[in-house]
Amino acid sequence: MSAKQEFVEQAKAGKVLARKCTKCNELHLSTVYFCKNCGNKGFENAVLEGRGSIATYTIITVPPAGFEKYTPYAWVVLQLDNSELRVSGFMANIATPADLPVGTRAKITGFDERGIIIEKQ
Ligand SMILES: [Zn+2]
Repeated sequence: MSAKQEFVEQAKAGKVLARKCTKCNELHLSTVYFCKNCGNKGFENAVLEGRGSIATYTIITVPPAGFEKYTPYAWVVLQLDNSELRVSGFMANIATPADLPVGTRAKITGFDERGIIIEKQ
């Protein structure tokens, strides 16, 4: 299974597949070749809970082709609990900022053509 497929499978289970530096334990998202902290090339998988709070987001009112049926939605940045990592993904039915205050608790609930699916917790 490719790293991308593994990431998708974990997202479907509500988790985030991260890469942990074997030298300094710094966590990174997706495929990295060098640790951004120490330059080490060795990594091992670390599976994190896909829960956290909304750090920021963009409400999409003019969607890309094929995404018209999903509007309104937001492209959100989720700050994971107990980690510096942030993941971005799709949240349905967000039309105005009142629908989603920054800091709202949220979690990963799946992965499909929209990317990572994030829902309010
Ligand atoms: Zn490192």
